[in-house]
Amino acid sequence: MISAVKNNTTTVVVSQGQSRNPQKRAIEQAIADAVGKIEGVDVLIVPHLYDLPKSSESFALLSAIEHDLIVVSWIYSRAAHWVLDRNGVQGQIRQVLLGQADDVDEPANDDSPTEDDRQVDHVTDLFPRPERKISCLDLKVANDADTFVHEIRRLLGSQEESTSLPVIGGSIRQVEEQTGRRWYPVIDFDRCTNCMECVDFCLFGVYGVDQGENILVEQPDNCRKGCPACSRVCPENAIIFPQHKAPAIAGAETEGDEGFKIDLSQLFGAPTKDDDPIATAARERDEQLLLAGRDAIGINDQLKKRQIDNANQPKDQLDELIDSLDASDL
Ligand code: SF4
Ligand code: SF4
Repeated sequence: MISAVKNNTTTVVVSQGQSRNPQKRAIEQAIADAVGKIEGVDVLIVPHLYDLPKSSESFALLSAIEHDLIVVSWIYSRAAHWVLDRNGVQGQIRQVLLGQADDVDEPANDDSPTEDDRQVDHVTDLFPRPERKISCLDLKVANDADTFVHEIRRLLGSQEESTSLPVIGGSIRQVEEQTGRRWYPVIDFDRCTNCMECVDFCLFGVYGVDQGENILVEQPDNCRKGCPACSRVCPENAIIFPQHKAPAIAGAETEGDEGFKIDLSQLFGAPTKDDDPIATAARERDEQLLLAGRDAIGINDQLKKRQIDNANQPKDQLDELIDSLDASDL
Protein backbone atom coordinates (compact mmCIF):
# COMPACT_ATOMS: atom_id res chain seq x y z
CA MET A 1 0.00 0.00 0.00
CA ILE A 2 1.44 3.34 -1.05
CA SER A 3 0.86 6.22 1.32
CA ALA A 4 0.44 9.56 -0.38
CA VAL A 5 2.84 12.45 -0.09
CA LYS A 6 1.57 15.08 2.37
CA ASN A 7 -0.67 17.75 0.90
CA ASN A 8 1.65 20.73 0.98
CA THR A 9 1.59 23.37 -1.74
CA THR A 10 4.68 22.24 -3.66
CA THR A 11 6.62 19.03 -3.89
CA VAL A 12 10.28 19.12 -4.86
CA VAL A 13 11.26 15.90 -6.61
CA VAL A 14 14.92 14.91 -6.56
CA SER A 15 15.61 12.38 -9.32
CA GLN A 16 18.85 10.55 -8.58
CA GLY A 17 21.59 9.93 -11.13
CA GLN A 18 22.02 6.52 -12.70
CA SER A 19 25.47 6.00 -11.23
CA ARG A 20 26.28 6.02 -7.53
CA ASN A 21 28.80 8.80 -8.02
CA PRO A 22 29.35 10.19 -4.49
CA GLN A 23 29.58 13.80 -5.69
CA LYS A 24 26.24 13.52 -7.43
CA ARG A 25 24.69 11.84 -4.41
CA ALA A 26 26.04 14.61 -2.16
CA ILE A 27 24.47 17.35 -4.32
CA GLU A 28 21.15 15.51 -4.45
CA GLN A 29 21.09 15.04 -0.65
CA ALA A 30 22.18 18.62 0.07
CA ILE A 31 19.35 19.96 -2.10
CA ALA A 32 16.82 17.67 -0.41
CA ASP A 33 18.02 18.65 3.07
CA ALA A 34 17.96 22.39 2.34
CA VAL A 35 14.64 22.43 0.50
CA GLY A 36 13.04 20.17 3.10
CA LYS A 37 13.39 23.01 5.61
CA ILE A 38 11.20 25.37 3.60
CA GLU A 39 7.68 25.77 4.93
CA GLY A 40 4.97 24.15 2.83
CA VAL A 41 7.36 22.04 0.77
CA ASP A 42 7.57 18.26 0.66
CA VAL A 43 10.58 16.51 -0.82
CA LEU A 44 10.41 13.22 -2.67
CA ILE A 45 13.65 11.48 -3.67
CA VAL A 46 13.22 8.93 -6.46
CA PRO A 47 15.52 6.90 -8.72
CA HIS A 48 16.39 8.25 -12.19
CA LEU A 49 13.06 9.28 -13.77
CA TYR A 50 13.89 7.99 -17.25
CA ASP A 51 14.64 4.48 -15.98
CA LEU A 52 11.47 4.12 -13.92
CA PRO A 53 8.59 2.11 -15.38
CA LYS A 54 5.14 3.67 -15.30
CA SER A 55 4.07 0.97 -12.84
CA SER A 56 6.75 2.00 -10.33
CA GLU A 57 5.99 3.18 -6.80
CA SER A 58 7.67 6.49 -7.62
CA PHE A 59 5.26 7.26 -10.46
CA ALA A 60 2.30 6.07 -8.40
CA LEU A 61 3.25 8.66 -5.76
CA LEU A 62 3.95 11.38 -8.29
CA SER A 63 0.70 10.77 -10.16
CA ALA A 64 -1.27 11.31 -6.97
CA ILE A 65 0.14 14.83 -6.49
CA GLU A 66 -2.04 17.56 -8.00
CA HIS A 67 -0.18 20.68 -6.89
CA ASP A 68 2.91 22.31 -8.39
CA LEU A 69 6.08 20.30 -8.81
CA ILE A 70 9.71 21.32 -8.96
CA VAL A 71 11.87 18.54 -10.35
CA VAL A 72 15.66 18.32 -10.29
CA SER A 73 17.24 15.62 -12.43
CA TRP A 74 20.35 14.83 -14.44
CA ILE A 75 18.65 15.20 -17.82
CA TYR A 76 17.69 18.32 -19.76
CA SER A 77 14.68 20.20 -18.39
CA ARG A 78 12.64 19.58 -21.52
CA ALA A 79 13.45 15.86 -21.45
CA ALA A 80 12.45 15.60 -17.79
CA HIS A 81 9.12 17.34 -18.42
CA TRP A 82 8.12 14.93 -21.18
CA VAL A 83 9.36 11.85 -19.32
CA LEU A 84 6.98 12.87 -16.52
CA ASP A 85 4.20 13.55 -19.00
CA ARG A 86 4.44 10.11 -20.63
CA ASN A 87 4.12 8.57 -17.18
CA GLY A 88 0.95 10.44 -16.28
CA VAL A 89 2.50 13.35 -14.37
CA GLN A 90 1.24 16.25 -16.46
CA GLY A 91 1.09 20.00 -16.17
CA GLN A 92 2.24 23.25 -17.74
CA ILE A 93 5.94 23.94 -18.28
CA ARG A 94 7.22 26.68 -16.03
CA GLN A 95 10.50 27.94 -17.41
CA VAL A 96 13.41 28.13 -15.00
CA LEU A 97 16.21 30.68 -15.15
CA LEU A 98 18.99 28.27 -14.30
CA GLY A 99 20.73 27.01 -17.44
CA GLN A 100 19.17 29.59 -19.75
CA ALA A 101 21.69 30.82 -22.30
CA ASP A 102 21.69 34.51 -21.35
CA ASP A 103 20.01 34.66 -17.97
CA VAL A 104 16.89 35.85 -19.70
CA ASP A 105 14.08 37.18 -17.58
CA GLU A 106 11.25 34.80 -16.90
CA PRO A 107 8.17 35.58 -18.99
CA ALA A 108 5.67 37.57 -16.96
CA ASN A 109 2.68 35.24 -16.88
CA ASP A 110 2.08 32.72 -19.58
CA ASP A 111 4.91 30.56 -20.89
CA SER A 112 2.86 29.05 -23.72
CA PRO A 113 3.48 29.99 -27.34
CA THR A 114 0.98 32.49 -28.68
CA GLU A 115 -1.68 31.71 -31.29
CA ASP A 116 0.48 33.36 -33.94
CA ASP A 117 3.38 31.02 -33.19
CA ARG A 118 1.27 27.95 -33.98
CA GLN A 119 0.72 27.20 -37.66
CA VAL A 120 -0.69 23.71 -37.06
CA ASP A 121 -2.28 21.94 -34.15
CA HIS A 122 0.09 20.27 -31.78
CA VAL A 123 -1.01 17.48 -29.49
CA THR A 124 -1.16 19.72 -26.43
CA ASP A 125 -3.44 22.15 -28.31
CA LEU A 126 -5.92 19.32 -28.79
CA PHE A 127 -5.36 17.75 -25.37
CA PRO A 128 -4.42 20.55 -22.97
CA ARG A 129 -2.52 19.53 -19.89
CA PRO A 130 -3.64 20.48 -16.36
CA GLU A 131 -2.98 24.04 -15.23
CA ARG A 132 -0.59 23.19 -12.39
CA LYS A 133 3.03 24.17 -13.05
CA ILE A 134 5.97 21.83 -13.38
CA SER A 135 9.46 23.36 -13.21
CA CYS A 136 12.35 21.09 -14.21
CA LEU A 137 15.94 21.94 -13.27
CA ASP A 138 18.88 20.29 -14.97
CA LEU A 139 21.48 19.23 -12.40
CA LYS A 140 24.21 19.27 -15.08
CA VAL A 141 24.30 23.07 -15.22
CA ALA A 142 26.13 23.65 -11.89
CA ASN A 143 28.41 21.81 -9.49
CA ASP A 144 27.01 22.99 -6.19
CA ALA A 145 23.74 22.45 -4.37
CA ASP A 146 23.38 26.11 -3.36
CA THR A 147 22.79 27.19 -6.96
CA PHE A 148 19.80 24.88 -7.23
CA VAL A 149 18.46 25.70 -3.77
CA HIS A 150 18.61 29.39 -4.66
CA GLU A 151 16.63 28.81 -7.86
CA ILE A 152 14.11 26.59 -6.06
CA ARG A 153 13.61 29.34 -3.47
CA ARG A 154 13.07 31.84 -6.26
CA LEU A 155 10.48 29.59 -7.89
CA LEU A 156 8.74 29.20 -4.55
CA GLY A 157 8.83 32.91 -3.84
CA SER A 158 10.59 32.00 -0.61
CA GLN A 159 13.11 34.18 1.19
CA GLU A 160 16.66 33.05 1.91
CA GLU A 161 16.90 30.81 4.97
CA SER A 162 17.07 32.65 8.27
CA THR A 163 19.06 30.92 10.98
CA SER A 164 17.06 32.70 13.69
CA LEU A 165 13.79 31.03 12.74
CA PRO A 166 12.71 27.50 13.72
CA VAL A 167 12.67 24.85 11.00
CA ILE A 168 9.06 24.19 9.94
CA GLY A 169 9.50 22.39 6.65
CA GLY A 170 7.56 19.47 5.20
CA SER A 171 8.51 15.84 4.87
CA ILE A 172 11.48 14.28 3.08
CA ARG A 173 10.66 10.90 1.67
CA GLN A 174 12.91 8.59 -0.35
CA VAL A 175 11.58 5.83 -2.57
CA GLU A 176 13.96 2.90 -2.79
CA GLU A 177 13.32 0.77 -5.86
CA GLN A 178 15.53 -1.08 -8.31
CA THR A 179 15.86 0.27 -11.82
CA GLY A 180 17.87 -0.79 -14.86
CA ARG A 181 19.19 1.52 -17.57
CA ARG A 182 16.69 2.04 -20.37
CA TRP A 183 16.73 3.58 -23.86
CA TYR A 184 13.56 4.75 -25.57
CA PRO A 185 12.14 7.82 -27.32
CA VAL A 186 10.23 10.47 -25.42
CA ILE A 187 7.81 12.70 -27.33
CA ASP A 188 7.55 16.44 -26.77
CA PHE A 189 3.80 16.87 -27.26
CA ASP A 190 4.13 20.66 -27.41
CA ARG A 191 5.89 20.05 -30.75
CA CYS A 192 4.32 16.81 -31.99
CA THR A 193 1.61 17.20 -34.66
CA ASN A 194 0.58 13.52 -34.67
CA CYS A 195 1.85 13.15 -38.25
CA MET A 196 2.78 9.45 -37.77
CA GLU A 197 6.15 9.68 -39.57
CA CYS A 198 7.78 7.93 -36.62
CA VAL A 199 5.27 5.06 -36.68
CA ASP A 200 5.99 4.42 -40.35
CA PHE A 201 9.75 4.80 -39.93
CA CYS A 202 10.47 2.58 -36.94
CA LEU A 203 10.51 -1.10 -37.85
CA PHE A 204 10.85 -2.33 -34.28
CA GLY A 205 7.28 -1.75 -33.10
CA VAL A 206 8.14 0.98 -30.63
CA TYR A 207 5.41 3.40 -31.67
CA GLY A 208 1.69 2.82 -31.76
CA VAL A 209 -1.56 4.74 -31.56
CA ASP A 210 -4.13 4.94 -28.80
CA GLN A 211 -7.87 4.50 -29.22
CA GLY A 212 -8.18 8.08 -30.41
CA GLU A 213 -5.51 7.51 -33.12
CA ASN A 214 -2.94 9.55 -31.24
CA ILE A 215 0.73 8.68 -31.35
CA LEU A 216 2.24 6.96 -28.36
CA VAL A 217 5.45 5.17 -27.46
CA GLU A 218 3.74 1.85 -26.99
CA GLN A 219 6.64 -0.55 -26.54
CA PRO A 220 9.50 1.65 -25.30
CA ASP A 221 11.78 -1.25 -24.45
CA ASN A 222 11.65 -2.51 -28.05
CA CYS A 223 13.84 0.48 -28.96
CA ARG A 224 17.38 -0.45 -29.99
CA LYS A 225 19.92 0.82 -27.47
CA GLY A 226 21.90 3.73 -28.88
CA CYS A 227 19.65 4.19 -31.93
CA PRO A 228 18.35 7.74 -32.28
CA ALA A 229 17.22 7.35 -35.91
CA CYS A 230 13.59 8.42 -35.63
CA SER A 231 14.56 11.69 -33.94
CA ARG A 232 16.14 12.70 -37.27
CA VAL A 233 13.02 12.02 -39.34
CA CYS A 234 10.50 13.72 -37.07
CA PRO A 235 9.51 16.89 -38.97
CA GLU A 236 8.88 18.76 -35.70
CA ASN A 237 12.03 17.65 -33.88
CA ALA A 238 9.72 16.36 -31.19
CA ILE A 239 11.50 13.10 -30.38
CA ILE A 240 13.96 13.16 -27.49
CA PHE A 241 16.47 10.54 -26.39
CA PRO A 242 17.44 11.94 -22.98
CA GLN A 243 20.67 9.92 -22.76
CA HIS A 244 22.00 10.69 -26.25
CA LYS A 245 25.36 12.47 -26.35
CA ALA A 246 24.20 15.14 -28.80
CA PRO A 247 22.42 17.83 -26.77
CA ALA A 248 19.93 18.56 -29.55
CA ILE A 249 18.71 14.95 -29.51
CA ALA A 250 18.87 14.73 -25.71
CA GLY A 251 16.36 17.56 -25.32
CA ALA A 252 18.46 20.71 -25.05
CA GLU A 253 16.53 23.85 -25.83
CA THR A 254 17.73 25.81 -28.84
CA GLU A 255 17.32 29.50 -29.31
CA GLY A 256 14.73 31.16 -31.45
CA ASP A 257 13.11 28.14 -33.03
CA GLU A 258 9.73 26.57 -32.96
CA GLY A 259 10.83 22.98 -33.11
CA PHE A 260 14.07 23.27 -35.04
CA LYS A 261 17.22 21.88 -33.48
CA ILE A 262 20.75 22.32 -34.71
CA ASP A 263 22.58 19.07 -34.10
CA LEU A 264 26.23 20.05 -34.17
CA SER A 265 27.21 16.38 -34.24
CA GLN A 266 25.92 16.37 -37.82
CA LEU A 267 28.46 19.05 -38.65
CA PHE A 268 31.53 17.81 -36.87
CA GLY A 269 32.07 14.30 -38.08
CA ALA A 270 29.28 12.30 -36.48
CA PRO A 271 27.60 10.27 -37.73
CA THR A 272 29.04 11.07 -41.19
CA LYS A 273 30.00 14.44 -42.50
CA ASP A 274 28.13 14.50 -45.79
CA ASP A 275 24.91 12.79 -44.83
CA ASP A 276 21.68 14.65 -44.59
CA PRO A 277 19.62 13.76 -41.49
CA ILE A 278 17.32 11.48 -43.50
CA ALA A 279 20.22 9.48 -44.97
CA THR A 280 21.78 9.25 -41.52
CA ALA A 281 18.51 7.99 -40.06
CA ALA A 282 18.22 5.37 -42.83
CA ARG A 283 21.76 4.17 -42.16
CA GLU A 284 21.20 4.01 -38.40
CA ARG A 285 18.00 2.06 -38.94
CA ASP A 286 19.80 -0.35 -41.30
CA GLU A 287 22.52 -0.94 -38.70
CA GLN A 288 19.90 -1.94 -36.17
CA LEU A 289 18.03 -4.12 -38.66
CA LEU A 290 21.25 -5.99 -39.50
CA LEU A 291 22.17 -6.36 -35.83
CA ALA A 292 18.73 -7.88 -35.29
CA GLY A 293 19.37 -10.36 -38.14
CA ARG A 294 16.99 -8.65 -40.56
CA ASP A 295 17.47 -7.14 -44.03
CA ALA A 296 18.52 -3.53 -44.48
CA ILE A 297 16.08 -1.43 -46.48
CA GLY A 298 17.97 1.83 -47.01
CA ILE A 299 16.14 4.93 -48.15
CA ASN A 300 12.65 3.72 -48.99
CA ASP A 301 9.84 5.67 -50.65
CA GLN A 302 8.72 7.30 -47.41
CA LEU A 303 12.20 8.67 -46.77
CA LYS A 304 12.70 9.76 -50.38
CA LYS A 305 9.58 11.87 -50.08
CA ARG A 306 10.94 13.42 -46.88
CA GLN A 307 14.22 14.24 -48.61
CA ILE A 308 12.36 15.94 -51.46
CA ASP A 309 10.18 17.84 -48.98
CA ASN A 310 13.27 18.95 -47.08
CA ALA A 311 15.00 20.06 -50.28
CA ASN A 312 12.00 22.27 -51.07
CA GLN A 313 12.06 23.96 -47.69
CA PRO A 314 13.42 27.51 -47.49
CA LYS A 315 16.95 27.77 -46.22
CA ASP A 316 17.01 27.30 -42.50
CA GLN A 317 19.45 27.85 -39.67
CA LEU A 318 21.30 24.57 -40.22
CA ASP A 319 21.86 25.27 -43.93
CA GLU A 320 23.12 28.74 -43.14
CA LEU A 321 25.48 27.39 -40.52
CA ILE A 322 26.83 24.77 -42.95
CA ASP A 323 27.27 27.45 -45.63
CA SER A 324 29.18 29.70 -43.26
CA LEU A 325 31.45 26.81 -42.22
CA ASP A 326 32.05 25.95 -45.88
CA ALA A 327 32.91 29.58 -46.54
CA SER A 328 35.39 29.46 -43.65
CA ASP A 329 37.02 26.40 -45.24
CA LEU A 330 37.06 24.53 -41.91
S1 SF4 B 1 7.15 12.06 -36.30
FE1 SF4 B 1 7.30 13.60 -34.68
S2 SF4 B 1 5.56 14.98 -35.03
FE2 SF4 B 1 5.16 13.11 -36.18
S3 SF4 B 1 3.93 11.83 -34.79
FE3 SF4 B 1 6.08 11.23 -34.51
S4 SF4 B 1 6.76 12.51 -32.81
FE4 SF4 B 1 4.89 13.43 -33.55
S1 SF4 C 1 15.46 4.89 -32.24
FE1 SF4 C 1 15.35 3.31 -33.80
S2 SF4 C 1 14.49 1.51 -32.78
FE2 SF4 C 1 14.16 3.24 -31.41
S3 SF4 C 1 12.11 3.97 -31.86
FE3 SF4 C 1 13.48 5.15 -33.16
S4 SF4 C 1 13.68 4.06 -35.08
FE4 SF4 C 1 12.74 2.68 -33.58
